[in-house]
Amino acid sequence: LVLGIGMAIPGMVQWPQGVNLFSPNYGWRNVPVRALMEERLGRPVLADNEVRAVALAEQQFGVARLARTIVFLDVGMGVGGAVVLDGNLYRGVHGAAGEMGHNTVEPNGPLCGCGNRGCLEVFCSVRGLLARTAEALVQGRPSVLADLPAEELSVVRLAQAAAEGDDLAREVLTRAATYLGLAVANAVDNWDPELVVLSGPVIREGGDLFEKLLAEEQRTVLETGRAGVRVTRAVLDEHAKIIGAATLVMAEYLAAPFAG
Ligand SMILES: [Zn+2]
Repeated sequence: LVLGIGMAIPGMVQWPQGVNLFSPNYGWRNVPVRALMEERLGRPVLADNEVRAVALAEQQFGVARLARTIVFLDVGMGVGGAVVLDGNLYRGVHGAAGEMGHNTVEPNGPLCGCGNRGCLEVFCSVRGLLARTAEALVQGRPSVLADLPAEELSVVRLAQAAAEGDDLAREVLTRAATYLGLAVANAVDNWDPELVVLSGPVIREGGDLFEKLLAEEQRTVLETGRAGVRVTRAVLDEHAKIIGAATLVMAEYLAAPFAG
């Protein structure tokens, strides 16, 4: 039995219409993903932002099962977020609530896919980390990574180089950890959650980035959040988006069984 098809996609997705209003990663504007896919597949389709899907998955099956107010931050190709308030995913007016990846951290920083400069994402996402490293290498910064073919540069190699004491790798990763720690502290100050869940390849593969991020968060968060908020890694890892996409369909079906 196929109830429907769930899709977890990057960018700002209007819910429940499934229109992708803006995806800096894909270069999409106003793409009616749900309608297009329903036409192709002949079945009900639900599409939501990928981090909102991760949030649903971790809330139903993962680390956030017993929590009611939760902030999610996913650090992958881009940086996305989601906010669950009193048990409900908060989507905002345009489906853009939780887009912490585009919080400005350096007003004159590198250009972001969204058109602004110095977003969190340009320093912390996979793409951002690799771009900042490549930039420094082009400028002639000495590093063990200088001999590596560009296509072999990855978060894993960056973390390896940092662990071996490479100055450039350490600098790039420490800056990312600092900005992510500040982002978590800001989110805790804004939403007063009981739990913050961090997911994505940069969290999994970034070496001691998670520990450094926690230290920065503890240093800067308001006193109310210092002891009372749990900051943890996601448990569903790379499966979270797929489980979340399926959860979208199941949750909607249980709420109102699709006709036919
Ligand atoms: Zn941006």
